[in-house]
Amino acid sequence: MTAALDLFDDAELDGAVAQAVRRIAVAGFKALWSGRRVTLAELLGDDAAVTEAADHLLARGRIEVSDDGHVVAVHGLARRATRHRIEHAAGVVNTWCALDAIGIPAALAIDARAVTQCPTCGAGLKVTLSRGQPEPLPGAVLWYPELRCAHLVDDFCAEANLFCSPDHLERWVGDNAGAGTVMTIKQVTELGRQVWAEVSDEFGADTDGGQKPQPPSPGT
Ligand SMILES: [Zn+2]
Repeated sequence: MTAALDLFDDAELDGAVAQAVRRIAVAGFKALWSGRRVTLAELLGDDAAVTEAADHLLARGRIEVSDDGHVVAVHGLARRATRHRIEHAAGVVNTWCALDAIGIPAALAIDARAVTQCPTCGAGLKVTLSRGQPEPLPGAVLWYPELRCAHLVDDFCAEANLFCSPDHLERWVGDNAGAGTVMTIKQVTELGRQVWAEVSDEFGADTDGGQKPQPPSPGT
């Protein structure tokens, strides 16, 4: 099984800054999910730990902030145009990569559609999730790059695509990519539940403008 994606790269950080990294990720995620345009200071204040945590995330391609200080992207969600998005009951939100688009609704256990594109042929691909469980999309496979991820968006997200078929994945990987793993959509949802577990835990407790995730149905 593929190691969970490291969205924080925070192993070296001391306690307060490491905590601030998590707070930025979760608060930023909630704001972007509900379409709010906010600065980090509005979300979390501007104490030293938050500032240091934001610098840490910026340097590692794990947050995007506009020139005037507004959060543009963090923790998989983006307020700018991308090739990937999540359509859900309360709206549409763009994501950094196909793994985010599938993994986030899986973690939130919501009804949603992950909309992305095969980079080889340009075909639109839609993965329907019901309470976080994916419907089959025959042939579709995701490429999970296994590389040292100095800049998350440039290094990992640019490569983490969903393909319409193993053949199109092979063609693209043959030309472009280094080491990595082929994942099924079901495996992507399992990984997503690990990667976004913290968001999922906190998200349900906060209903200010966000869509409250539904509990999984019994027996699934
Ligand atoms: Zn294709």
